[in-house]
Amino acid sequence: MSAMDLTATERAGSGAAADLAGHDPARTGLLVGGAWRPAASGAELDVLDPATDAVLARVADAGAEDAVAATDAAAAAGPAWAATSPRERSGVLQRAFEAFTRRGEEVARLISAENGKSLADARSEVTYAAEFLRWYAEEAVRVPGRLGRAPGGGNRILVSHRPAGVAALVTPWNFPAAMVTRKVAPALAAGCTAVLKPAEQTPLTAMLLADLLRESGLPDGALGVVTTSDPAPVVDALLGHPAVRVLSFTGSTEVGKVLLRRAADRVLRCAMELGGNAPFLVLEGSDVEAALDGAMVAKMRGGGQACTAANRFYVHRSLAEEFAAGLTRRMGAVVVGRGADPATGCGPLVDRAAVEKAARLVDDAVDRGARLLLGGAAPDGPGCFYPPTVLADVPAGSAVLAEEVFAPVAPLVVVDDDDEAVALANDTEHGLVAYVYAGELSRALRTAERLEAGMVAVNRGLVSDPAAPFGGVKESGLGREGSQEGLLEYTETTYTAVDW
Ligand code: NAD
Repeated sequence: MSAMDLTATERAGSGAAADLAGHDPARTGLLVGGAWRPAASGAELDVLDPATDAVLARVADAGAEDAVAATDAAAAAGPAWAATSPRERSGVLQRAFEAFTRRGEEVARLISAENGKSLADARSEVTYAAEFLRWYAEEAVRVPGRLGRAPGGGNRILVSHRPAGVAALVTPWNFPAAMVTRKVAPALAAGCTAVLKPAEQTPLTAMLLADLLRESGLPDGALGVVTTSDPAPVVDALLGHPAVRVLSFTGSTEVGKVLLRRAADRVLRCAMELGGNAPFLVLEGSDVEAALDGAMVAKMRGGGQACTAANRFYVHRSLAEEFAAGLTRRMGAVVVGRGADPATGCGPLVDRAAVEKAARLVDDAVDRGARLLLGGAAPDGPGCFYPPTVLADVPAGSAVLAEEVFAPVAPLVVVDDDDEAVALANDTEHGLVAYVYAGELSRALRTAERLEAGMVAVNRGLVSDPAAPFGGVKESGLGREGSQEGLLEYTETTYTAVDW
């Protein structure tokens, strides 16, 4: 039985004993200078179980003065950390990778409890998140530099990459572990110290990660953690602190623009991983079963709450009926429930606002004439559930095609040729990722080259890889995470002209 079949009271009961493995009840404070402490104001915020609305934990609710204290500590720790050998920094990250992997099941349960995602999704996230620790343990000892001769033949040109200073790291709730390691690991590998402001919905996983790093030998102050229910003044204090030189933000385009304006006041280096609106193209001649396999991964990972989630499906007319029937069958078979229940394939959405947004987008499409093939109505509370939903023949102009859906909702649009698919795919201000299925690889690659996206998945439903540069074009972001590029975001390129 899925949670969608339970009464509201049964759903509440099933979540009452939310699994908080991995969360130490003593660890509820702010990490400042190597110690967990309450907010200066004494305020606390509730962390909720999105499956039941029950309070999972109460944690410190930071204000601006706490952000300043954590940044002061990171600034004080900065010179010594920057002076450690790359091998030493690599060792801390490698030990953190091992500890994180050893305790992976605990971390997965904690992610699932506070974010709501299924345990299977949480376990995949743990593997993905851990790999950033390992990858940057390996990259820490490979920071490049170069020496060349000036074209005129006189002096030498010596180029090196130095740690940029304290990094302000702001992360979203949808990958409570991976978005943290994707920033913290390259920052530390580069020789920067950092202050992390995790999302208010999912601070517990971030706290556990910070402790693992400390246990792995990270010096006091090198990483601060400030959780808050009121992010604007806290992030403002971070960005205004004279020691901060880098902002790395993952979240919505809307908030990203606000922070870019703020960062401009201090000319900070900015790495911005913002919202997506990924098109999923199924071109004429595609293997429909393979495209359905990819669609399920691209749409349903984290219940559709990934920035890389397939947002809009453009399917060639010759395959449209078969694809729609297959997707309806497969999405209809997904068990919706509390993330920790082993049968669950799709957990709740993160909060009530997310359910309201999904309902608004689906209702708008249906009002405009889309055919509802599956789902389409949220159950009564408690819990923030929205069912897997498939919409066919979604008319142009529907909000579900223009906005980031962030729910298990798949809008399908029929196209007549590749040119139409590409034109519709590019008709957005976003450009994070796109998916292309085609029978011939050359056709898929030709199409991929025409798509305005920082990443393209060809004949597969997943792009994320710590070894690959992750990021968007257009309003989906600036800079890259992962790969060697991700580390260089935390460095300043410096050039020395040398006569010898
Ligand atoms: P969000 O922008 O609301 O919040 C992200 C972070 O910013 C959180 O830590 C939040 O507390 C903080 N924040 C919110 N308002 C702020 C303000 N006024 N000033 C300073 N900080 C503020 O996004 P979200 O709802 O947490 O996450 C979902 C969004 O993140 C989606 O748009 C998704 O596409 C995007 N995302 C992007 C990537 C990527 O790599 N491109 C990855 C994951 C999520």
